[in-house]
Amino acid sequence: MTGSRREAHPRYAALTDVGRVRSANEDSYLAEPPLFAVADGLGGHQAGEIASRIAIDTLLASAPRKADARALGRAVRAANVAVIQAAERGHGRAGMGTTLTAAMVEGTRIVLAHAGDSRAYLFAHGRLQRITRDHSMVADLVRRGELTEEESRHHPNRSVVTRALGSDPEMPADTHELDAGPGDRLLLCTDGLHGMLTDDRIEALAAAFPDPEDVARALVAEALLGGGYDNVTVVVVDIAETGPERASERRISVRRWWAASLWAVVAAAIIVTGSLGAYTYARSRAYLTAESGVVVIRRGLPGSFAGIRLDWREQETTLALDAVASADPVMAQRLRLGLVVRDLAEARRVAEDLRALVASASAAP
Ligand code: MG
Repeated sequence: MTGSRREAHPRYAALTDVGRVRSANEDSYLAEPPLFAVADGLGGHQAGEIASRIAIDTLLASAPRKADARALGRAVRAANVAVIQAAERGHGRAGMGTTLTAAMVEGTRIVLAHAGDSRAYLFAHGRLQRITRDHSMVADLVRRGELTEEESRHHPNRSVVTRALGSDPEMPADTHELDAGPGDRLLLCTDGLHGMLTDDRIEALAAAFPDPEDVARALVAEALLGGGYDNVTVVVVDIAETGPERASERRISVRRWWAASLWAVVAAAIIVTGSLGAYTYARSRAYLTAESGVVVIRRGLPGSFAGIRLDWREQETTLALDAVASADPVMAQRLRLGLVVRDLAEARRVAEDLRALVASASAAP
């Protein structure tokens, strides 16, 4: 198979972000075709992060080789037992828990196993369909007609789950089997996404981009723009006759969060207000990088989104990248990638600091 033919094959993308309010990301995800999953840890003080990670690791170890819904359900139940046993051994803490929504994709066949309020959606023929049923207090109230969907997204008890891994050793897992078509999209997400965006908005963004990575970025961007009150995690899998192929998979690290989130705001500005808002926003930002071996200051943001670049060369310094590299190799690498700062004034201050760093390094014996 040639490289160019591989390009035509189905793709997937996974993205997580800590959000704009929480200090830690307790969500975990898995994107190991044919297996995909999201997990939203509960418990705080890092226990939620431990619980969601144990659930994902156990799922990966216990999942069947073939897309079998009942066997996938057993793997979710094994993950439940693993979380309970970890807490009993003092790993994490008592009362920690996690949601888990797992999918196996084999060609156009999808099987799912699920517990909690993370979700699986299928986007097919331009319409978004919710596959899983939330195990949450507000979802029960909506089903009983006591709350509207919109009210449930703002309800004070919206994050209370009625089923999760980590408490009941006999916890059941819901299972689903579906036959999708080529061109459909499977979407897994935690409530940091569906709590911020309506299904109509998720549908619009799922339809807006041919590349699943752009869909994932746009969804996370809008969740952040809407407030980013919770950790947000999205997995997007394009369904085709053949198995899914990697488009990208990224856990945004603390160091990269800054630049990635700035792009997220720009993406959201493009989507929500048109390109003028994005342009104005990007003009207010700055970064330092290296061009032809020299450190330069640029306005805007490094990288691109959906093929769009928003950066302008502002100022060339007299600092050689090699000189920075011999003083601080890590800093030199960050410059190569684009060192994002708050604004132009800060970029100039950083350039002065770099100059002082190089001067003191070359003066040293
Ligand atoms: Mg959450």
